[in-house]
Amino acid sequence: MITKESILSILAQVSDPEVPVLSILDLGIVRDIQIHDDDKVDIGITPTYSGCPAMSMIAVNIKMELLAHGLKQVNIHEVLSPAWTTDWMTEEGKQKLNAYGIAPPQYNTANNPHERDAVVPCPLCESKDTVLVSQFGSTACKALYKCNSCLEPFDYFKCH
Ligand SMILES: [Zn+2]
Repeated sequence: MITKESILSILAQVSDPEVPVLSILDLGIVRDIQIHDDDKVDIGITPTYSGCPAMSMIAVNIKMELLAHGLKQVNIHEVLSPAWTTDWMTEEGKQKLNAYGIAPPQYNTANNPHERDAVVPCPLCESKDTVLVSQFGSTACKALYKCNSCLEPFDYFKCH
């Protein structure tokens, strides 16, 4: 018997192609799960950054993972509104990001839209003495920072 919980435990194994330590549940992009006839499922996902090519890959990965777990038919549709924000990322997801060496979003965009003022602690040594090097890091979703304490550069997952 397929339940929403069993679907969620399968989706927890689908990772973000850009940051493999994050599952799509950590990202908070799964908006809707509908189960029909026990072996058909409809999943609604909200795209993250519009410039991120990862979404079609995520959709394919969701499909493959669910089919591998015995579902017969998997439909994935995009839920474009409301738009995804980094506020939807789980606390666990943020901790995983930090452990992976990427500074997680520092602000809740709903409460504080002024990300420019963000102090981004270094994920390596936790120093707050860091500087923005470039608004665009390894991908458009990330900014490149450098730590003045340990001198290491690191990516910051920008609030959005
Ligand atoms: Zn550092």
